[in-house]
Amino acid sequence: MPELPEVECIRRALEGLLVGRTLSLDHIARQDIVGSLSNPRGQRRGPVKPIADEQLLHRSVVDRVLRKGKQLAIGSLCDRWLIVRLGMSGQLLTGSAASERCDHVHARWTIGGGASLAFRDARRFGSLIPCPSLSELEAHWQRLGPDALSIDPMDLLDRLRSRKLAVKAGLLNQQIVAGVGNIYADESLFRARIHPRTVCTSFRHEHAVRLAESLREVLASAIEHGGSTLRDYCSPSGITGSFRLVHQVYGREGQCCLICGAKLSGARVGGRATVWCPTCQGRRIK
Ligand SMILES: [Zn+2]
Repeated sequence: MPELPEVECIRRALEGLLVGRTLSLDHIARQDIVGSLSNPRGQRRGPVKPIADEQLLHRSVVDRVLRKGKQLAIGSLCDRWLIVRLGMSGQLLTGSAASERCDHVHARWTIGGGASLAFRDARRFGSLIPCPSLSELEAHWQRLGPDALSIDPMDLLDRLRSRKLAVKAGLLNQQIVAGVGNIYADESLFRARIHPRTVCTSFRHEHAVRLAESLREVLASAIEHGGSTLRDYCSPSGITGSFRLVHQVYGREGQCCLICGAKLSGARVGGRATVWCPTCQGRRIK
C-alpha cells in the first residue's frame, strides 16, 4: 500500500507533468470508483450516480498537485479539485506506462492533447473524489492528523498521550498522524529505539521528540530512494522505488538486527504484522 513517501514521489512527478496543461477526460470505465466528500470510498453500495465529466477535471488546466498524508489532490485554475486515494494498489500512470496498460484502468485522461494519464487500481480500495474548492479540500483534510513529514513533537505528544493504544497502532491511525503505514511505522520506531507495544499514555516529551525526528528522517530518506516497492507501487512513469533495499526491520523478522546483531522479533501489533529488535527497542521506554 502506498504510504507518504510513495505518494509524495507521485505528487512530485505529476506536478512536473501536469501543471499548466489541460486535462481531457477520455473515459471513465467504472463510475463506482468515484466517491464524494461524504462517502470517500466510492459508490460501492446502492445505485451508482453518474458524475459530470467536469467534476473529474475534464477541460481543466492543472494549477497544482497537493498531498496530505497518503492522499493526493490535483487542483485546476478554476479551483476545481480531484482527490485521489490510492488505497492498496492504486496507481497514477503517465506516458508509455499509461498507454501500455489497459487492465484495471478505471479512468483515463489526455494531458494537453498528448500523453495519457491513467488511474489504475486492481484491488479497487482506492477512489477519486471530486471537490469543489480549495477551502472544501482543506476542511476535508482537517479530519486527518498533521502530515507525518512535518509533525511537531509537542503536537505528536498531545495526540498520542491521551490514547491507551500501543504506539504502533497510534502511528497507523490517520487521525493522529497522516501518512504512516506499516512499513514506515516499524522503521521509525526502530530508529527512535521505541518498542512498538509501548503504551502511548507512557510517552514523555523526549520520546515524542525522538519519534518525530525518526519519522522525518525515515520518510525523507524513503522519498530520496523513490519510495518502497513491495508489489504494486511504481512512479507515474512506471519506475519502482528502492527504499525496500534499506529497510532495517520491516520484512526482516528472524534476521539479525543491523545495529546489535540480535534476532529481530515479530508479532501482530495494532492488527498488523510488526517487526522490532528486542534489544535496541527494549520493552521499557527509556
Ligand atoms: Zn538491535
